[in-house]
Amino acid sequence: MPNSADNTKQSHCRTPQVNSSASAWLGTQRTARDVVANAAAKATAGKGFGAPKAGAAAKVPTKCPCGSGKTYENCCGRLHAGEPAPGPEALLRARFSAYKLQLADYLVATTHLKNPEHTGDAKSYSRVVMKTARANTFISLQVESQEPGATEDEAFITFTVHTRHNAAAAQGRPADATREKSQFVREGGRWLYRDCVE
Ligand SMILES: [Zn+2]
Repeated sequence: MPNSADNTKQSHCRTPQVNSSASAWLGTQRTARDVVANAAAKATAGKGFGAPKAGAAAKVPTKCPCGSGKTYENCCGRLHAGEPAPGPEALLRARFSAYKLQLADYLVATTHLKNPEHTGDAKSYSRVVMKTARANTFISLQVESQEPGATEDEAFITFTVHTRHNAAAAQGRPADATREKSQFVREGGRWLYRDCVE
């Protein structure tokens, strides 16, 4: 995913990513609609007059942002609401959708603590992720291939993310395509994004 401040073609490897310390997230019952509404409420809180009301700002997508063709509530929305990802590709898709919907808490909760770019603090990492999500338009995700790891709790996925850095796009810069191979691991029954490996 792109860096929040610079749209040069860098891979995930140098992008701020987060940890999995948000266990509260995983233990809470909620609907996909609640998740998106709460995120929108947070995003608009404290912005003063003229800011849209929290409820009105919540745009729950009908089609899933990951591009699966399914409805959001039958795809990534279920994972955003707390359901464990059935596999690493589902997690990757849900993370892409979370960037698009600016669900920083989900990204924090599904990034492995040992990810080298983890800041060591869920709140500060959440701010970094949100900055990235806001600075870029997440256009589309293409999943290329998946390879098994050394155990059934590890997998590698090669994919391409198409993004546009909003400020750079305003100056005429075209969209970027970032191709990466990333490692995913399953811990405690939950798939997590571990790191970019290529
Ligand atoms: Zn989806």
